[in-house]
Amino acid sequence: MKKTTTSSEIFIDPVCMMDVDSGRLNLMFTYQMRTYYFCAEACRKAFKANPEKYLKLKAPKRKGLWGRYLDRLNKVTGGKAQQCH
Ligand SMILES: [Zn+2]
Repeated sequence: MKKTTTSSEIFIDPVCMMDVDSGRLNLMFTYQMRTYYFCAEACRKAFKANPEKYLKLKAPKRKGLWGRYLDRLNKVTGGKAQQCH
């Protein structure tokens, strides 16, 4: 019996950090052997113009948007690791 692979992967738009709906995966751009997906053509264009800028944002060096997001997450979970049950 063969296992069928599900296409339920999560794609994150590197420009706005939104989850990209799998129905919109036509908006993609390949950069340095990796394929990135976008929520909108505007995001794809922005990434295309300056990929490094958006890829750097992934590393939470400063307390930017991502740091604030983590803070919010910590507040919700009370700073504890999330449990599945
Ligand atoms: Zn976007």
